[in-house]
Amino acid sequence: MARRGNLFIVSAPSGAGKSSLIGALLKDKPADMQVSVSHTTRAPRPGEQDGVHYHFVDKAAFEALIDQGAFFEWAEVFGNYYGTSRVTIEQTLDRGIDVFLDIDWQGARQVKALMPEAIGVFILPPSREELERRLNSRGQDSADTIAARMADAVTEMSHFNEYDYLIVNKDFDTALAEFSAIVLANRLHLAGQKSVHGDMLDDLLAG
Ligand code: GDP
Ligand code: ADP
Ligand code: 5GP
Repeated sequence: MARRGNLFIVSAPSGAGKSSLIGALLKDKPADMQVSVSHTTRAPRPGEQDGVHYHFVDKAAFEALIDQGAFFEWAEVFGNYYGTSRVTIEQTLDRGIDVFLDIDWQGARQVKALMPEAIGVFILPPSREELERRLNSRGQDSADTIAARMADAVTEMSHFNEYDYLIVNKDFDTALAEFSAIVLANRLHLAGQKSVHGDMLDDLLAG
């Protein structure tokens, strides 16, 4: 029997390195891992493509999707709506593919309540100064947006205790290796291994 995919919830204050870490993990497009593309009402940043980074929609369209029950979870972050499509997540997990949600702590709570087996990973920057430096060096947000995100960072970080794993993204390659180890360890969990290797286990244990 095929294993169902694992659902990973990845949260961090903006600028801590979530997108970079998920992007690096999925760089070679592994067939068994996929990032969930959220819907958002925020404007695209330079270089962001509709359907790749986000599904960019206006407020009316987002609210219509809420009314249709299309979202697995949704939240208002920095004055914009963000949400995860229900159908896409379920179908992808059913195909045995691990799914990564890059969502904030409010969304993470909703997902954990709906799916307690989801695996929470929290990413912290090594210091506040470094977080601010990264937000500035990304060079994609205005000074006002950066100030708002810094102000919100402490709130986001205060929720680290609600997750299963904690990564400090100081050296990027170290953080990436740690992230990859978490994904692999969860694949080797007994319940999943039993469903993948059922026939082999029967053969090995046959009297
Ligand atoms: P965003 O989602 O639009 O913020 O984009 P990303 O954060 O995924 O990536 C921004 C750029 O930074 C990409 O070109 C990455 O390859 C690059 N990058 C990510 N992490 C590091 C790092 O630790 N060091 C360096 N030098 N570059 C990085
Ligand atoms: P998030 O998705 O959490 O908002 P990003 O992945 O966009 O954060 O990272 C913010 C900025 O910090 C990017 O410019 C990225 O290249 C940089 N960055 C990420 N991790 C590191 C790291 N370990 N060392 C230095 N810069 C980093
Ligand atoms: P950004 O605008 O930098 O891409 O994302 C801002 C914040 O919104 C981040 O904390 C990110 O994790 C969160 N976010 C992105 N997509 C979703 C989503 O679908 N649901 C929720 N709840 N948060 C999201």
